[in-house]
Amino acid sequence: MKIFCIGRNYADHAKEMNSPVPSQPMIFMKPPTALLKNNDDFYYPEFTKNLHYEVELVLKIAKNGKMIAGKFADSYIDSIGLGIDFTARDIQSKCKEKGHPWEIAKSFDNSAVISQFVALEDIADEDGNIGFSLTQNGKEVQNGNTRDLIFDFSKLIVHISKYFSLQKGDLIYTGTPAGVGPVAIGDELKGYIGEEEMFTCKIM
Ligand code: ZN
Repeated sequence: MKIFCIGRNYADHAKEMNSPVPSQPMIFMKPPTALLKNNDDFYYPEFTKNLHYEVELVLKIAKNGKMIAGKFADSYIDSIGLGIDFTARDIQSKCKEKGHPWEIAKSFDNSAVISQFVALEDIADEDGNIGFSLTQNGKEVQNGNTRDLIFDFSKLIVHISKYFSLQKGDLIYTGTPAGVGPVAIGDELKGYIGEEEMFTCKIM
């Protein structure tokens, strides 16, 4: 089982990071040991002083495929979840400066919060768009909608499957909208798709 993540897939987030909008999807990966399920608590790692939340819609892949054509891409989506791509921003900045890979900033244990999964047709509005948000201690800090994606779900599936075989059960974290920020021990994060609460994550 593989976990793909997409960087800078909402223009407003690329802007807040002072990063250029990419011309192709930016892909990185997390190992299965990164998953944090069942509303489990998250323990603040000792190696960072600036841990950030990034709320993201997550695709679960329905079946195996490679070199998937755009017109078939939607049939590879099994269901949708909501998650957090926890990021050690201080370490990521150092990695970026040196041109190093950023796995130690992004792919550590429990860095990928994941909710239960729901059918796409149950959560999309009449135009096929999905709205989602994150609260920190009851206050909304991020709010996104798939209509603002730079690369939509189909384009991500086409692009990723050029390089990697997709397998049933693989996950794709589809990128975060603006509003990323630091967490502190004692915080409670809650993720929503529309009005529906998808996960709670306490920082310990
Ligand atoms: Zn992310």
